[in-house]
Amino acid sequence: PVDRSPEIQEARLKLPVLAEEQVIMEAVRENPCVVICGETGSGKTTQVPQFLYEAGYASGIIGITEPRRVAAVSMSHRVAKEMNLSTRVVSYQIRYEGNVTDETKIKFMTDGVLLKEIQKDFLLQRYSVIIIDEAHERSVYTDILIGLLSRIVPLRNKKGMPMKLLVMSATLRVEDFTDNQKLFRTPPPVIKVDARQFPVTIHFNKRTPLEDYTGEAFHKTCKIHRMLPPGGILVFLTGQAEVHSLCRRLRKAFPFRKDEEADTSEAMRKFKKAKQKKTSLPRIDLDNYSALPVDEGDEDREAGIGDEDDEGSDLDIGDDPEEKADPSIPLYVLPLYSLLAPEQQAKVFRPSPPGTRLCVVATNVAETSLTIPGIKYVVDCGRVKKRFYDRVTGVSSFKVTWTSQASANQRAGRAGRTEPGHCYRLYSSAVFGDFSLFSEAEITRRPVEDLVLQMKDLNIDKVVNFPFPTPPSAEALVAAEQLLVSLGALKEPPRTGRVKEMEQARLSCPITPLGRAMASFPVAPRYAKMLALGKQQDCLPYVISVVAAMTVREIFVDLDRPAGSEDESSKLTQRRARLTQMRRLWAGQGASLLLGDLMVMLGAVGACEFAGCTPKFCEENGLRYKAMVEIRRLRGQLTNAVNAVCPEVGAFVDPKMAPPTEHQVVCLRQIVLAGLGDHLARRVQAEDILDPKWKNGYKTPLMDDPVFIHPTSALFKTLPEFVVYQEIMETTKMYMRGVSAVEAE
Ligand code: ADP
Ligand code: MG
Repeated sequence: PVDRSPEIQEARLKLPVLAEEQVIMEAVRENPCVVICGETGSGKTTQVPQFLYEAGYASGIIGITEPRRVAAVSMSHRVAKEMNLSTRVVSYQIRYEGNVTDETKIKFMTDGVLLKEIQKDFLLQRYSVIIIDEAHERSVYTDILIGLLSRIVPLRNKKGMPMKLLVMSATLRVEDFTDNQKLFRTPPPVIKVDARQFPVTIHFNKRTPLEDYTGEAFHKTCKIHRMLPPGGILVFLTGQAEVHSLCRRLRKAFPFRKDEEADTSEAMRKFKKAKQKKTSLPRIDLDNYSALPVDEGDEDREAGIGDEDDEGSDLDIGDDPEEKADPSIPLYVLPLYSLLAPEQQAKVFRPSPPGTRLCVVATNVAETSLTIPGIKYVVDCGRVKKRFYDRVTGVSSFKVTWTSQASANQRAGRAGRTEPGHCYRLYSSAVFGDFSLFSEAEITRRPVEDLVLQMKDLNIDKVVNFPFPTPPSAEALVAAEQLLVSLGALKEPPRTGRVKEMEQARLSCPITPLGRAMASFPVAPRYAKMLALGKQQDCLPYVISVVAAMTVREIFVDLDRPAGSEDESSKLTQRRARLTQMRRLWAGQGASLLLGDLMVMLGAVGACEFAGCTPKFCEENGLRYKAMVEIRRLRGQLTNAVNAVCPEVGAFVDPKMAPPTEHQVVCLRQIVLAGLGDHLARRVQAEDILDPKWKNGYKTPLMDDPVFIHPTSALFKTLPEFVVYQEIMETTKMYMRGVSAVEAE
């Protein structure tokens, strides 16, 4: 029996999913797998686990997977509160942290965490139910999990340890799961939850701003706030930097009582202080960790400009009358995006201060994962930021593109949860008509070597035959197997036999012992290979630090942040000079120079750790504090993972790590080459420079056009003949990132 407070009980009764409790529980009783569709906000995530708990399914753990860390954490807290249970019972586990105990009955986790658990126990014996939430997002891990569970559930039933699978989606587009014979021979029943959605009036713009949609969003929000009746405003933008910039402009335009603001910032300062004190070296319980290179929250991952700091200069303020501060109508402006600290995220659920209107400026986390109460107006820029990979060359780029019609409608729906609402689309209806109907499944848009390795480790040799809801392309699978063979993670296929057999063999290479070790490291296969080789010459601590630094995005702040005014620009020049000097220092001298950008990373990690990894040190030295904290956690985690595979090396995290010796640098370069061997580039020879644009360019095997060393790279001036790179990122040019020199033979 669950003892809920009267307020909670009252709020629950208003949720549409409650009306379907009996239908859902009956379907669950009679079927091993059930699909539930219901609008965002209808109560799926918070209520369905409670139904299962009350219906007696908590003999084992009720597990719920979320594609985003934000949702896993906040939903676990919410459900604990609703059920009046401790977080020892309703808990969460995300990449580095969690509060799971022996008493845990309801466990929210990211999908990557559950995938790791399947590797340890294929039958997931501790669980009685698995709920795959947000299945419409079609994240890679969600798709794989559904494929795996379609096999695990019948196996469990056969063994007399029944288990249930629930798949929950915010859209009705579930045919990829239900009409897929390979996945479920008997199609699972689909239960539709009729959300009491109030009508939302859609307003299209006459024209579509091609550039300054943030400016357009600002004007629209100002207008709504000045002219329209009370009700929260939710603005959708594409990334963290945009979110912060708009928040600043809105706060300037509609400031609310200074003393209140001072209060919160004072509280924040205290909180930050308390947090700093707490950070010591991480203690990670190996049985309880899980991490995969989850590319979650892409929208936050591009150049962490303006991270966390809401102050800063307002570059985008013009003479617009709208920008004149008007304190008579205060607006309570809150940012929301995946990497925002949880205590900041939680603010959107609390009532806004009396006399203010709530305005949340969000990336697409607010599209389906979180429901913000009281939203009446939605302002939608119609765009989304995504990472794109070129399938042939592996070149990646972040691009802001139009979203899909389905997403745009989801966004609009956020306005009609509590009363009729309005959605202002900052684009024309003609442009909307050209949007694709749905977003593509992520698995079709990215390389899959990490997944293939994980699956081989689960003894799924013929990955092509795996019941993917949407299979990755055959090319992507072949490329993945080839890379893994070249890294030694898979056995090379026999070269004899007929063409057809060889084709088959190329797609079903079994895993090697090295591959198993690599699969146990929570990083992509190229980096896992480096870790596996790290034992030589006592290089392990360095390899771990370099790998940790390479897998965390954007550890350096952007030196090219534009300056606002003359006076600022001279300060900026000074700062830039200082940071450049630091980076030169970290690059070391003599032999270590050849390790290039990786040496700079290693130097930065070493120096930062030596200084105690403080926000102050990071700020002064152009490092992103959040990135450095993540690197520190990852170092601890990778050290544990290496020790688990190879206890005799006894690796440990040394906060006072000395720089590598010359000999070790040579060794490190070999290790890096072993991991990045397929990312080799050779300087374009003088006689081959047909076009002046090719000057200082590098040639890679797969691309016709040259690639370049970025001006901020440690090797920009050296231009070694051969280099390996971490990745190629297309911005203004094709640039290699993470470059290190290779000895010519
Ligand atoms: P769904 O999963 O169907 O999108 P949820 O179960 O997430 O729906 O949300 C149901 C309701 O619970 C929403 O109206 C939402 O506003 C409310 N809710 C969710 N989390 C919180 C929270 N932390 N605080 C207050 N209300 C919340
Ligand atoms: Mg939900």
